[in-house]
Amino acid sequence: MDKSAIFKLSYGLYVLTAMDAGKDNGCIINTAMQITDNPLRIIIGVNKNDFTHDMIVNSKVFNISALTVDAPFSVFQHYGFQSGRDVDKFADKSAIVRAANEVAYVADYTNSYISAKVTDMADLGSHTLFTALVTDAVALSDAESLTYAYYHKNTKPKTTTKKKGWVCKICGYVYEGEVLPEDFVCPICGHGAIDFEPVNL
Ligand code: FE
Repeated sequence: MDKSAIFKLSYGLYVLTAMDAGKDNGCIINTAMQITDNPLRIIIGVNKNDFTHDMIVNSKVFNISALTVDAPFSVFQHYGFQSGRDVDKFADKSAIVRAANEVAYVADYTNSYISAKVTDMADLGSHTLFTALVTDAVALSDAESLTYAYYHKNTKPKTTTKKKGWVCKICGYVYEGEVLPEDFVCPICGHGAIDFEPVNL
């Protein structure tokens, strides 16, 4: 099997936000799509390691904000490469903007947000697949939506390391060593061994 074929699938990139027990949080996901139009429903896939995942299991409500091509790498570092368990990603309370469902959305480097209410949860092992009714949808700008392919090509910094080993294709972390353990998980972004490629080997 050629796993690189999997990377030919096209994805967008979104900030997934939720609120639970009075706490705001958000993470980056690439798995969100409309699945039916009557009623209007979307599905999202969320890694169980993400704190936002547990918040949505509890609250059943979330927003997704669609990122645009001008989003800098720092947006991914902020929402994607640190956990809401350790830091408050919405520490600047005065900067929080909220949708009608009271959950925060992200207004910078995004062109729209969608609010949704969970109707089904499917346990997929590492991830949960949430099916949700769209309760609101707001267009913010005409800026072009960011795709995962664009992120890989243009947004993330180019690898300039002289280290020998395996580089994380998501965040650029380098594992030094000839053999990357199959169960290795990136300490920066949490992605697994499938998202690593050899560097200087
Ligand atoms: Fe990584």
